[in-house]
Amino acid sequence: MTKYTIKDFRAQYPSDTVCLDKIFQLRYGKLTHCPECAEETTFKRISTRRSYQCRKCYTQFYPTAGTVFEKTRTPLSDWFFIIYMFTTTRNGVSAKEIERALGVTYKCAFRMGHKIRELISGIDPEMLKGFVEFDEAYSGGIMKNKSNAERKEARELAEGQKQRIGRNSDGKTPIFAMVERMGRVRAYVMPKIRKEAVYKLIKDNVDRTAIVSTDESRLYDNLNKQLGFEHGQVNHSASEYKKGIFCTNTVEGFFSQVKRTIKGTHISVSEKYLQSYVNECAFRYNNRGTGGAMFGIVLDQIKHVGE
Ligand SMILES: [Zn+2]
Repeated sequence: MTKYTIKDFRAQYPSDTVCLDKIFQLRYGKLTHCPECAEETTFKRISTRRSYQCRKCYTQFYPTAGTVFEKTRTPLSDWFFIIYMFTTTRNGVSAKEIERALGVTYKCAFRMGHKIRELISGIDPEMLKGFVEFDEAYSGGIMKNKSNAERKEARELAEGQKQRIGRNSDGKTPIFAMVERMGRVRAYVMPKIRKEAVYKLIKDNVDRTAIVSTDESRLYDNLNKQLGFEHGQVNHSASEYKKGIFCTNTVEGFFSQVKRTIKGTHISVSEKYLQSYVNECAFRYNNRGTGGAMFGIVLDQIKHVGE
């Protein structure tokens, strides 16, 4: 896998104009005819705005309209650079790092990070299949803005799942993940782990023919009966990590990556933004092994604006 180095990046996107050209091309393809007047034409770059003008009818096109770059005064080359950083780091880029790298305010840096996460949160419609592993993990820990009843419920939920290798879920936000062995992941932040909600996610994301592994949590008791999966459980509380074809190492590997990203890079993450960080981890996980192509894969998402 060839690497996409900072040198390659700088050579490819040396200026704002080149970045805008790239966005124009991603949004409109190689335009030979004007979308407005339908004449065969070429387009003139308007240097004072982020726009291109049809040489026949003078209509202006703004390729950043509707994209994450629409309302930004930050140079496009800075945006591209941060996207480059996003795709070349293992555990992501914090707002603090963006702030330092670009010399912008923390607020601006924070917003940029989230806009880029917005860009990569695209849904892959294809169902997961083959060997698929399910598991839950918990993030956060402060029970802010929660009623006593909710605290009590969370505590009871945690106690009910005590067999889950003592993972402390009290007051934390659950994330449910489904991962193909050697394949793709889907992960969802949930207000609570509820069987019906979890089973709905499974139904919507996993092909019926999948062979499913989970741990011994009672949450998964009816996967076979209710959803028809071939299903095996490993008993973690009895230090069992593999039972024939069944094991949950893949999904646990994904969760350790989420943990490294959230704890290692972002330090703390509010519940409100947790899904977008989880999406970032899922994106990086799903595109691992693409090497230098990941930057282009992120940029390509611009094509899907308005879909
Ligand atoms: Zn025209």
